[in-house]
Amino acid sequence: MEVVRSQRISTPKNDVVSILPLYRSAPPLEVRLEDFELFAMDRLRVLKGISDGLSRGKKPEDMDKLVGDLWKANMRHTDATEVVNKDIISHFVLRLVYCRTEELRKWFLSMETALFRYRFRLENSESQRTIMAEYNLPYKAVPTAEIESVKDKLSQVARSINWTLHIADVIFYKVPFEEVPELVANRRVYIHKGLAYVAMNQVVSLIVTQFRSHLSKALVLTNRKWTSTIREQEKDRLAPVVEALCTSYLGPDYSQPNEFGEISLKDIDQVAKSSFPLCMRHLFDKVREDHHLKHGGRMQLGLFLKGIGLKLDDAMAFWKAEFSPKVSAERFDKEYAYSIRHNYGREGKRTDYTPYSCQKIISSTPGVGDHHGCPYRHFSAENLQAALGRMGVDSRAVEDVMDKVRNRHYQLACTLTFEAVHGSSCDAGINHPNQYFSDSQKILKSK
Ligand code: SF4
Repeated sequence: MEVVRSQRISTPKNDVVSILPLYRSAPPLEVRLEDFELFAMDRLRVLKGISDGLSRGKKPEDMDKLVGDLWKANMRHTDATEVVNKDIISHFVLRLVYCRTEELRKWFLSMETALFRYRFRLENSESQRTIMAEYNLPYKAVPTAEIESVKDKLSQVARSINWTLHIADVIFYKVPFEEVPELVANRRVYIHKGLAYVAMNQVVSLIVTQFRSHLSKALVLTNRKWTSTIREQEKDRLAPVVEALCTSYLGPDYSQPNEFGEISLKDIDQVAKSSFPLCMRHLFDKVREDHHLKHGGRMQLGLFLKGIGLKLDDAMAFWKAEFSPKVSAERFDKEYAYSIRHNYGREGKRTDYTPYSCQKIISSTPGVGDHHGCPYRHFSAENLQAALGRMGVDSRAVEDVMDKVRNRHYQLACTLTFEAVHGSSCDAGINHPNQYFSDSQKILKSK
């Protein structure tokens, strides 16, 4: 796949089978640099949505709906003929992004497999058979006479899993049982002499195993190529994009106040209590308590406050008043006022700085005496439990939150806190502290 600066993508010559590609080799496409990144981000939205759904323990039928909605919302293209290209390009770009460590490979492999499974089930049986042929699966349909001899056993399995099918009308394949571990584990298949009788509509399990194994090997090979040549060859062009993609935040930037307009100084205590996420509550409490915050904390809280609509003059007054027991007005003007104006784009390059996303905050590394970071990631279990208690989260919800934290699903832990505090679900999940704030305000104002 060649990345170019501006030409249009040529017609793909790839391994597309019907509309579901198998991604077995990078297609000879020319890709515009901007599409390289944008397509990958759209696919990443789908994979992250799947990841959230799975970690929330959604049921298979809810997952089907979720994956369908995510795909429709993100993988469209204004030009219908480019939809397949977008699918293939985005997959191969993310392969580069997620081949680089064991942990990234594992995540990508699971999410792509879940996506493939869903898409394969939507294919008609002819396409499914074509895909089986593409994978050279050596299985032959079991002859009718043999089906007749095990008909009762097959019917028994069918009944036990509530299948209403007429055995004689179904095509079965005989497959070594270790190749369909999911079907065996869930007792959804009849096994005789080490061979499982897999019905056509269960073939998804076989195909998914193939897909997963091919992709797993391909990711290891891509990693070798990335380390040995691509990273160096592309160090000024693609490498920075690839390295930034797996931690990129995919939502709105919240650099401008939300639809609830401005927040004035007189309201700040009340909204901090009702609508700040734990990371910002903690910083807010600390600045009140210590009358100081180190640089990382001032940036994290300062940009968040700007994003929720605190105007520059109010921000200046807030920090000055909070610091006043320890920092004289003169020293404040000399040492701190510049960086606050800077955050509002009134100094330096005059850039309007963007409030930090959860991903950025979670991946920060606070040192001793720092209070920034994400409490779900950076607090000890005892401190986190105590902080959740102070937010009014009941003990059962605290347990659920701690469970997500133990599994390193920090944003999900924050989402569960949001749901417990507001008594309302947050299906999109928490991705940004300013999103937490605006979703909270929406709920509170509607009550
Ligand atoms: S998940 Fe995000 S909003 Fe929640 S506490 Fe962590 S950084 Fe803040």
